[in-house]
Amino acid sequence: MKKALIYARVSTDEQVEGMSIDTQINRCSRWAEENGYAIVGIYKDEGKSATNMNRASLKDLLGRVQEKEGLDAILVLDTDRIARNTLDHLTIKSLLQKANVPLISISQPMIDDSPEGNLIDTIIASVNAFQSQITGRKVSKVAEEKAKAGYYPGKPKTGYMNVICPNPKGKFDKRIIDIDPQRGQYITQAFNLYSTGNFSVKSLSDHLYELGFRSNTGCQVGISLLAYCLRDPIYLGKIPWKGVIYEGHHPALTDQETFTKCQEIMTAHNQNASRQRVHNYLLRGFVYCSDCGKRLWADKHTKKSGLVFEFYFCKTCSKGSYVGVNDLEEQVEEWFGAIQITKEYARNLVTRAKQILEDYRNNSDNETQIITNRQSKIEAAMREAEDNWLIKKTLSAEAFRRIYDRYEADLKGIKKQLGQMVDSHNQSLVTVQRLMALAQNIRMAYHEAEPSLKRFYLGLFWKKFVVKKGEIVNAILADEVKDLISVPTSLSVPKNSTSSFLQREQKVLNLTS
Ligand SMILES: [Zn+2]
Repeated sequence: MKKALIYARVSTDEQVEGMSIDTQINRCSRWAEENGYAIVGIYKDEGKSATNMNRASLKDLLGRVQEKEGLDAILVLDTDRIARNTLDHLTIKSLLQKANVPLISISQPMIDDSPEGNLIDTIIASVNAFQSQITGRKVSKVAEEKAKAGYYPGKPKTGYMNVICPNPKGKFDKRIIDIDPQRGQYITQAFNLYSTGNFSVKSLSDHLYELGFRSNTGCQVGISLLAYCLRDPIYLGKIPWKGVIYEGHHPALTDQETFTKCQEIMTAHNQNASRQRVHNYLLRGFVYCSDCGKRLWADKHTKKSGLVFEFYFCKTCSKGSYVGVNDLEEQVEEWFGAIQITKEYARNLVTRAKQILEDYRNNSDNETQIITNRQSKIEAAMREAEDNWLIKKTLSAEAFRRIYDRYEADLKGIKKQLGQMVDSHNQSLVTVQRLMALAQNIRMAYHEAEPSLKRFYLGLFWKKFVVKKGEIVNAILADEVKDLISVPTSLSVPKNSTSSFLQREQKVLNLTS
């Protein structure tokens, strides 16, 4: 019998109430039974808002996969379970692929290991990432409200710790920050010492270490964290959140005068010089030099006028290899335009797009039915409880209240689930639209995609672009799609090519002058 592991996940606390972890496991188990798999392990992550890979069970699962015990599949209800952003998704998928263990998404049978399946998978992953961004935005909205109310919404900073408020008054002060009895005093000392002007951040860090100041991992509190602390208005009893400073309810660890003094000294020492931002160059890893075959690098140059010129270039060949970022990116877009999808492939995509929609619909119809049934059962039970209390008098007022509250919480969970299903249906519409767009016009789909999706499309269709003197001279399709689509060996020379070539030369000249 084939062996499989199940992975289940709920991302937010409210979903735990809906018990969807059990639903996921039940449905995966049923599928395993019907398809001849024995379940040899169940992994679940629940409760936390797990948008990243910091999920203990997922890590355990991936660890087990590495052990090569002859697993035949990882089962998930849908690919949304495994990752909510495209990068994680790809990382996990490639880990599984390396170990030769396929990921089976039981509610999405069209996602298989065929090129079309991978393409659909890619698109769904990007839709999931988008969904996650939306959820993230909701979460940050709550955090902002909490900050406005004067309660720090993040992880407590060094010198503070989370405590349960003994007598909360509102919805934000159940968990509050208070002074950490161990580290708080050192923060106060740090401000006092630094404000004398006799310390650099480095010597302050050493000195505090001698005095007994330790990070929560037991190490010396380093220069960067310390410099960051000395700039942080949270120690004045304020709440800095997303660029705004709110009045806070927590006790201060230093006073305004000392704090201001520290800022002046800090600026004078220029300790906290801002680091150079790393630009995200879209084509990094996809563009290669035609002369030496090496990968092109990206960099930028700020002219005296303040204008920034961003470019790709070959480190080895250097001279003449410079090409403007926008220039090269536009050329790549033209290559996307040159992709010819075979009719069969396009038809396949559209068929599968329709399949996805139908599948989602069937799924959600079933689930809606189950959920509405549960809703009416609970409502009936609530009426019965009411009767038992008021008419039959078999329930005390207290017992009634307790039962009623529980039912009410259940109902709330159900309403949320229904809302989520509407969301997921809308998402599937987006998925289908994207598939259709892709089948009909790859260039447009690429053009309109957000940067992370653009990187995806790049990797999906292309192995590399070979660049000579700022011009793409050879575009090589990715192995996965090269049999399904075709491109001309070279793009027809655009009418304005001479002028654009001259402009490029001009740019290189400007750069060196
Ligand atoms: Zn080169």
